[in-house]
Amino acid sequence: MFVKLESEGITGLGEASPNAFYNETAEGVSARLASAAPFFSSLKIRTVTDIGEVWAKLWPLVAPSRAAQCALDIALWDWLAQREGVSATQLAWGIAAKPVNTFCTIGLSTPDELAEKVEELRGFPLIKIKSDQHADLTPVRAARQLSPNSRVAVDANCGWSSVEMGQHDSINRLVALAVELKEIGVEFIEQPFPPEQDARLPRLASGPPLFADESCVTEDYIDRMALAGFSGFNIKLDKCGGITPALRMARHGHALGLKTMVGCMLESSLLIAAGAVVAQQTDYADLDGAWLLGDDPFQGWRFNRGTLSPPIGTGLGVEPATNP
Ligand SMILES: [Mg+2]
Repeated sequence: MFVKLESEGITGLGEASPNAFYNETAEGVSARLASAAPFFSSLKIRTVTDIGEVWAKLWPLVAPSRAAQCALDIALWDWLAQREGVSATQLAWGIAAKPVNTFCTIGLSTPDELAEKVEELRGFPLIKIKSDQHADLTPVRAARQLSPNSRVAVDANCGWSSVEMGQHDSINRLVALAVELKEIGVEFIEQPFPPEQDARLPRLASGPPLFADESCVTEDYIDRMALAGFSGFNIKLDKCGGITPALRMARHGHALGLKTMVGCMLESSLLIAAGAVVAQQTDYADLDGAWLLGDDPFQGWRFNRGTLSPPIGTGLGVEPATNP
């Protein structure tokens, strides 16, 4: 879903990628955007503080859609940064944008697909391997072997706790997997169990740190992350409502001594550009969503072998793709 805000001859662009896991649909986002439209006709935005106030006032108009709030918030950041004649990174952090190393994903694969994907990502700086209820570590070992200098993480997408195994066996298996993954040299394990099982997450005596993704939706969730035994969390602009809360989440996480990561859905280079702004001050970025698209409608940050380089220009620096 794309939005365009036009005022004073400046166009601000925003995007949301509604995800069914969070009960978001394109139709739902579209309806919320329509109901928020009149609110925008009388807005005056001059500072980042103004955007923060608008973000809060928007919520009753777009609730329960954080994705709709995200699209509008991003467009405001793009618009204001252009008006100020600076990049969105400069506006957010007061620094020039630096290149961002991003995780690139190896999805659940057949053996043939796996061989191809591991080869494609050979030598990339950060590799993330998706796992499921089978918790097969073959792809992790394959990536490690072919790319010994890459940093590797595993994302279980809530899959390592299965009803068939039962809770007790799932926990025992996680403890054993963690030992094995530490030996392999995996950097962290993302979301092993579903969020409703946060309280049952074991404290791992040995193993890579645990990162929350589905367990950490908005900024209200951060304080309970450390209590649940997570060492870090995955910020996604579609989950939390845009750049405004994502910046607060990054700062809050650091203040609590938690690691932070900016992630993405399947999304265009427009939403990726917003994520890359936040990623300037997080520990990790997982922003390969646009690279996986066959028909990215925008261009902005240039992807090259796992590194995103900032665009030249003000705002988010994004424009329609010349070769979509
Ligand atoms: Mg994840």
